[in-house]
Amino acid sequence: MKAKFDYDCIVIGGGPAGLMAAIQSAAAGNRVAVLERNGVLCKKLRITGKGRCNLTNDCDFDSLMAGIPHNPKFLFSALKKFSNTDIISFFQEQGLKTVTERGGRVFPETQRAGDVAGALIACARKHHIDIFTNTRVLSVWIEEHTVRGVLFRCGKNESRLSAPFVVVATGGLSYPLTGSTGDGYLFAEQAGHTIISPHASLAALLSGEPFMNALKGLSLRNISISLLENGRIVYQDFGELLFTGSGVSGPVILSASAYYKPDSETVLYIDLKPALDEKKLYERIQRDFMESSRKLFSNALDKLLPKKMIPVLIARTGIAPAKPVNQLSREERMTVVRLMKQFSVRIDAIDDVKNAIVTAGGVCVREVDPKTMESKLCRGLFFAGEVLDVDGYTGGFNLTIAFSTGYAAGSGTNKKE
Ligand SMILES: Cc1cc2nc3c(=O)[nH]c(=O)nc-3n(C[C@H](O)[C@H](O)[C@H](O)COP(=O)(O)OP(=O)(O)OC[C@H]3O[C@@H](n4cnc5c(N)ncnc54)[C@H](O)[C@@H]3O)c2cc1C
Repeated sequence: MKAKFDYDCIVIGGGPAGLMAAIQSAAAGNRVAVLERNGVLCKKLRITGKGRCNLTNDCDFDSLMAGIPHNPKFLFSALKKFSNTDIISFFQEQGLKTVTERGGRVFPETQRAGDVAGALIACARKHHIDIFTNTRVLSVWIEEHTVRGVLFRCGKNESRLSAPFVVVATGGLSYPLTGSTGDGYLFAEQAGHTIISPHASLAALLSGEPFMNALKGLSLRNISISLLENGRIVYQDFGELLFTGSGVSGPVILSASAYYKPDSETVLYIDLKPALDEKKLYERIQRDFMESSRKLFSNALDKLLPKKMIPVLIARTGIAPAKPVNQLSREERMTVVRLMKQFSVRIDAIDDVKNAIVTAGGVCVREVDPKTMESKLCRGLFFAGEVLDVDGYTGGFNLTIAFSTGYAAGSGTNKKE
C-alpha cells in the first residue's frame, strides 16, 4: 500500500483536531501530511480563552457529556477513548503543565495559548509529520466512493497528493480570519454528505429594544439570568453580562445562546439582585427611600443600581422621575422591585456565525462512524473537530471535542492492508 500513495494519511487543516488526528495516525506508523492554508498552524487555538486557552474541563464523564448540548451521544465512544483526563495527561507528557480554575476550566500553567499550540506542533514534529503551510486544499479526490487524495493549491501551483486516508479537520465558519471558512462542508458534500445548516453558538444575542444604546458598555456582575423560549425557561445561569449596544454578551449569554432558537419568541430576564428575594428587596428599597424621603425618584436608586441602568429602569416603571420618593405608592415600589428582579430584554436574533465562538451544525453525524469518525458514505474519508455537527458550552468543551474526535479519526486510520 505504501508505495502506491504519496502518503498514508493526509490531514486537511492544522488546528487542534487536525494535529491530534495527524499525531495519532503517525503514532500508528502511518506517513502523514498536514495541509494548512495559513502560514502558521493553530491560528484559532492561539486566541482561545482570551489568549490563555481553556483546553478542556476537569469534570466527571457525565458532566462532560452534559457540557455538549448538540449530539453528545455521537461523541460517547470518542470521549471514552480519549477523555478530558487523557487530554490533560497528553499535554503533561509533552511537558505542558496545566492548572484547573473555577468551573473545572483547565488552562496551561503558563497561561499562554501559544504554548498549547507549541506543544501540539512539537509532538507532530517528533512524529515526523510533514507539515505544508500556505497550502489550501481545493477538493477531495474521490473515486467509486473511496478517497484517493486531495487537490491543493500552494502559491500559483495546483497539484494532487494521493493517500488512502484523508481527514477533514477544517473547522466551522466562526472567526473566518483564522482560516475556517467552511471548506470542509464542500468536501463533505463532494462525498454525498448532508450538511446541517451551520449557525452561531456561543455568540452574543441581539435585541432591538429601544434602551439598548443607553446601556451600551454596561457590564453587570453577579446577576442571574433566565432565557425563556415561548414562555418556557430553557436556560438559567449566574455570572457576568455585558450590554453591547446591539444586544447582550458576556459569559452567561454565550452559554445561554446555545439554547437560542431563531424562530421562537425569546425573552431574557435579568435578576439584578439575585441575593434578595422580592420581599427583602422591597424592604431594602423602602429603607433607602425613607432615609432620603424628599429625594426625587430619579435620584433615589444610586445605591441599588449602576448609573447607566437608573434612567432606563425609571423610564420602564412609568413613574415620573421628578416624583418625591415619599409619594410613591406601594404598587409603584413593587413595580421597581419587579423590574429589578425581572429586567426583561426581548431577544430578536443571535449574532452572525462569523462572530460566534463556535459553529453549530455541520457534517451530519448520522453519516459518520462514531468510533472512528470515518464517513459511512466514502471509504477512507474521516472528519474531526468543529466541521462536525457537534458543539459544546464554554468551559473547554469545544477543544475537548476537537482533541477527542481528532484522536478517534487518527486512530481510525490505523488500518493496515
Ligand atoms: C475567540 C475564540 C475563543 C475560543 N476559546 C475557546 C476555549 O477557551 N476553549 C474551548 O474549548 N474552545 C474555545 N474556542 C473554540 C475552539 O477554538 C474551536 O472549537 C476549535 O479551535 C475547533 O478546532 P478545529 O481543529 O476543529 O478547527 P480550527 O481550530 O478552526 O482549525 C481548522 C484549521 O483548518 C484550516 N483550513 C480550513 N480550510 C482549509 C483548507 N481548505 N485547506 C487547508 N487548511 C484549511 C484552517 O486554516 C484552520 O487552521 C474558541 C473559539 C474562538 C473563536
